[in-house]
Amino acid sequence: MSNGPSALSPQHREQLDALVAALRESLPTGDLPGFYRRFRESDLPFVPVRGELDTGKLFRFCYEVLHRLGSVSPAVALAVENHYYVTSALATFPAGGDPVLDARRDALLESVRDNRWLVANTNSKVHGNKLGAVGTYAKPMPDGFAVNGSAAYTSLATEGDLLVFITQILDQGPGVFAIAPMQDNPAIEIGPYLFPSAMLDSDTRRITFHDLELPADSQLIDPANSHAELLFAFEMAWHQLLIPALYLGGAAGALEEVRTFLRDTQGRDGKPLAELDGMVIDIGRLAIDYRSACQVLQRAGERLAEVRRIPEDADLLAAASAEAGVAKYVGTRRAEEVVTVARRIVGARTFTGGHLLERLSQEIMFGPLGPEVSAVIERRLGTRALDDQSFLNPWW
Ligand SMILES: Cc1cc2nc3c(=O)[nH]c(=O)nc-3n(C[C@H](O)[C@H](O)[C@H](O)COP(=O)(O)OP(=O)(O)OC[C@H]3O[C@@H](n4cnc5c(N)ncnc54)[C@H](O)[C@@H]3O)c2cc1C
Repeated sequence: MSNGPSALSPQHREQLDALVAALRESLPTGDLPGFYRRFRESDLPFVPVRGELDTGKLFRFCYEVLHRLGSVSPAVALAVENHYYVTSALATFPAGGDPVLDARRDALLESVRDNRWLVANTNSKVHGNKLGAVGTYAKPMPDGFAVNGSAAYTSLATEGDLLVFITQILDQGPGVFAIAPMQDNPAIEIGPYLFPSAMLDSDTRRITFHDLELPADSQLIDPANSHAELLFAFEMAWHQLLIPALYLGGAAGALEEVRTFLRDTQGRDGKPLAELDGMVIDIGRLAIDYRSACQVLQRAGERLAEVRRIPEDADLLAAASAEAGVAKYVGTRRAEEVVTVARRIVGARTFTGGHLLERLSQEIMFGPLGPEVSAVIERRLGTRALDDQSFLNPWW
């Protein structure tokens, strides 16, 4: 983050430095299991589940971790982001007094903490001819549920230990379930990469359930529960906040490459390119784009932290969700633009083999694609802009 105090303790900072170094070593050899081993050995994945930090501080913590990882590999940071947003949302959802929900999320978070598990997630969306189609369903059984069908997207698919998934409960509505073990489970088929030539390090794969039998208590929240919709919204707000955190990390990585290139490369007059006035101005423009997007994101994180009680703060959650959408929209687009300009500055040497900007160029474009698609965010703001309130209203 470009301003404000760090949410990382000195020990966490040391662990993060070591982890970033491990990621840099793992990427050229494809030894991502080695990276994940180091990640699990550190305390970093388990800060959300220990409940040490409130929403505001936890957001800053996750931001810093994902931003650093994203500066090296947006794809790996995206896989890790799934773990962080799911665990952070469950740990900080401020609804008390629902004994079933509280007992189930406490049990889930305890098992993540005690077993040092990583959490993968799928919303069960598939690419059909109707938008928003859900490819999995759960059939109620006398003692629980039987789950079948396929989901297009699961990042962290071969590393996750516990899978949290949304599915359609027949004749009821969307339900959230958690299942472990995720690996070597005969009822869970972890299929091929969804994108065979892109984002491979995010480990995003199709996943298929074959009569997966789940006990009733693996359902985190009943669709009829009055908190269910608010939990979905809270979780989505976390997701929308953490996605730009990692892609802006990619932008920061690109700016650092540009800085080194311009300082180390001399023009025909023998002076470093960094001394060209036009270059200074161009880089200033990029730095402003990057910094302003980080600040929008920081403010959106503060808005989510204002949601202190559910259901009382449902209106604040709606406002925070809208802000998270704007931050995701602005942050991921700015990140893409910064990397594009950085690549133009460094030039063709970007693609001569093993250059960080090559990886960033190939991965940064995935930022604007999800979780919420841009049209949904644009429509939300467009509807607001055209409602019966003046545009001079202080909200804007
Ligand atoms: C690299 C990557 C990893 C991912 N990992 C995971 C994961 O681990 N778990 C998980 O659950 N999901 C994951 N996702 C999915 C993500 O959360 C979103 O569901 C997904 O990105 C939505 O994009 P889509 O192209 O599938 O959208 P679609 O819904 O198929 O939309 C396609 C296009 O249709 C148009 N459109 C869609 N909706 C509307 C609308 N309401 N109004 C107008 N136009 C519309 C837009 O132009 C949009 O781009 C991942 C996605 C990516 C790209």
